[in-house]
Parts: sequence; C-alpha cells; structure tokens
Amino acid sequence: MGFEIVNEPGVNTRWAVTVTETVAATADGTTTKHLANSLLEIEQTISDTLRDRAGRISRTVHRLGHREVYFEDGTRIEFDWEPVVLDWRCLDCGVDTDAIDEYYMVHDALWREAAAGERAQLCIDCLEARLGRTLTAADFTDAEVNSVDLPRRSQRLRDRLTRRS
Ligand SMILES: [Zn+2]
Repeated sequence: MGFEIVNEPGVNTRWAVTVTETVAATADGTTTKHLANSLLEIEQTISDTLRDRAGRISRTVHRLGHREVYFEDGTRIEFDWEPVVLDWRCLDCGVDTDAIDEYYMVHDALWREAAAGERAQLCIDCLEARLGRTLTAADFTDAEVNSVDLPRRSQRLRDRLTRRS
C-alpha cells in the first residue's frame, strides 16, 4: 500500500489517526481517533502515547501507515493512519472557500435543492446563482460555524447571516 499526495490550492490533506490499546490481562481495547496535520505530528502522538504509558517495550512492528508496539506486560498499542482529503474548492467557480472565509452550513433541504446533498462546498455567489435568489438568515442552521461573531467571515457571508427574509 502506498500514498501519493498531490497538493492543489483549496485542497488540504490531513491524516486520520486511530490509536487502539489492548490490555493483555482483560483483552479490553480502547480506541481513540483524531486528525493530524502532518506525519511529524503522528510521530509526536506515538512518542507521547508511549512515554505516558509506563512499562518496557518488548517489540515494535513498523509498516506503512501502521505501528504496533508490544509491552512486556502483554499490552499492545496499535497506531493506524491514512490520508483524509479536505476539498474546500467551490463546485462551480473553484475558489478556495476556506481562503475567502466562506465556510457555513445551510439547512439540508436547501442543500439538497442546490447541490443534491453532495458533500462539497459552494461559495455564496455560486450557491445564490444555483438557487436564483439571495440567501437570508433563515437559510442557515444554528450551527456554531454560522455565528456572525466568528472572525473569519467574508463580507457577503456576514451580510447573508443577518439578512431578513
Ligand atoms: Zn463559487
């Protein structure tokens, strides 16, 4: 298994990291997941996890995207990581919606009408062009990301978030 990562403006690649710890005595496992920005960050996570856990390491298995660490008491900690692509480009004009501060959430019904519910981004201009009207506050959900007070809001997004129907 190998990875090839091509960097394009508006597309970010991060790493989904899964850490699974299995305690030998009970065979109980705990799993945690998080996103890392770089391979260096993953190594840092591995290093921190192993440091926090007392006990001598008896064996380590390395594979691409995988690390398995065995302790003398039989405990095993496995680390798995794979790339996650976050595409912030507007479906229609290709602008990086993250760079122009147009990250928002509209109601599902509206998104179905505009983008067939696709997991994707549209800038305000292109969403309004598809709908054939100007967005108003009622189109946005109560999600935290829609707060007008957040610092990163484009002028037109700020305007729509407070616009009356
Ligand atoms: Zn657009």
